[in-house]
Amino acid sequence: TPTVVSADVHHIDPALISRNAVRVTDTLQQAGFRAFIVGGAVRDLLLNVAPKDFDVATDATPEQVQKLFRRARIIGRRFQIVHVQFGQDIIETSTFRALVDQPADATGSAGAAGTTAAEPPRRLKRAELDRRTHAVDASGRVLRDNVWGEQHEDATRRDFTINAMYYDPATQTVLDYHNGMADIRARTLRMIGDPATRYREDPVRMLRVVRFAAKLGFEIDAATRAPITRLADLINNVPAARLFDEMLKLLLSGHALACLQRLRAEGLHHGLLPLLDVVLEQPHGEKFVTLALTNTDDRVRAGKPVSPGFLFAALLWQQVQDRWNKLTAAGEYPIPALHRAMDDVLDTQTEKLAIQKRFVADMKEIWSMQPRLEKHNGRTALRALEHPRFRAAYDFLVLRCESGELEASIGAWWKAFVEGDVEAREILLTQGA
Ligand code: ATP
Ligand code: MG
Repeated sequence: TPTVVSADVHHIDPALISRNAVRVTDTLQQAGFRAFIVGGAVRDLLLNVAPKDFDVATDATPEQVQKLFRRARIIGRRFQIVHVQFGQDIIETSTFRALVDQPADATGSAGAAGTTAAEPPRRLKRAELDRRTHAVDASGRVLRDNVWGEQHEDATRRDFTINAMYYDPATQTVLDYHNGMADIRARTLRMIGDPATRYREDPVRMLRVVRFAAKLGFEIDAATRAPITRLADLINNVPAARLFDEMLKLLLSGHALACLQRLRAEGLHHGLLPLLDVVLEQPHGEKFVTLALTNTDDRVRAGKPVSPGFLFAALLWQQVQDRWNKLTAAGEYPIPALHRAMDDVLDTQTEKLAIQKRFVADMKEIWSMQPRLEKHNGRTALRALEHPRFRAAYDFLVLRCESGELEASIGAWWKAFVEGDVEAREILLTQGA
């Protein structure tokens, strides 16, 4: 049974709560279901931070949820959830689900927790019970877990105690199943259950704990932290696309630099993410990468948009340059060599971490414009200015100058050119090249 925390204890500011999320919980509750705001939103509310998105958990099945809202779509395979839409805003609504089987190597038995442990909730019909499917791979990684369950089971399958609390806007109470309130106060990240088992089920949790620690400024509890170095290699089993999603969250968290430093401290970057290996181990590119990450963090925290393509271009730039230098040293012409270097780097990277195609296109344009910007003679400078990716390539060049990789005068010339009027540009062009 959960601890019920009332408003005079939790002090959640109602002004921070999404009206749409409350519309969802109200509608579900009026239809006779249980419904709560859950997870990261409750954690952020308790920390008096405005959540960036709101999730709802309910005992209604996805089909039952869908029927109650005009614009609702059932999505996902691994987790079936409902996206309830209000204009641009989406409230992710998921059905309470149970923890799937513990992996045999962790429990000593292959008990079917998901199918037999608890009486199914009353509302589940036969057809829904048949969908109680679950699977783990040889390392214990969960492949599917649409296993409906009770609310306490839903709490237990979540990752950290601070992410497993439920808020009922109607009564303004928090339901706390795993002492999350105490960990919020102690600013501690603590895994629910046996940490090693939970990392085996889903190695992405190792990246999540690092991200939350950096972002919230929380400590990782010793028992939660201890198995990470030993289990770090399990990241290799995570599909490349999911790893990319998680890396993107990490890099756009507003605390990317802290996250990457923490990943290194936990041994999570080594040999698993080629990108991070390169970024964190490279001897001379460190300043450039640090600058790029600091700029990104500043922009995110100021609420400005950031371009993932730009960021990945920065993270892999040293690797591209090293490869480029090798190829030109072997006698290849500079421009074809650059393009080959780009492709080589992207190929090795994509095996582990599938960078989305649209970002790859941005990266290639940013990189391939660099030699043109370095030369800046009259004709190419004017043409470069009209390129749709000019701004990103120019920002990239400025970063290279700031890091000391390029002479500052090149960046200064471009800055004057970009900011100058027609006359100023004329003068600059006669000095160019
Ligand atoms: P963020 O601020 O990054 O959105 P979040 O905690 O809301 O943080 P989400 O990825 O949005 O993270 O997930 C919502 C909730 O779902 C989490 O709070 C947690 O309860 C649960 N959850 C998400 N990912 C996992 C996971 N890999 N294992 C267990 N529970 C998870
Ligand atoms: Mg969230």
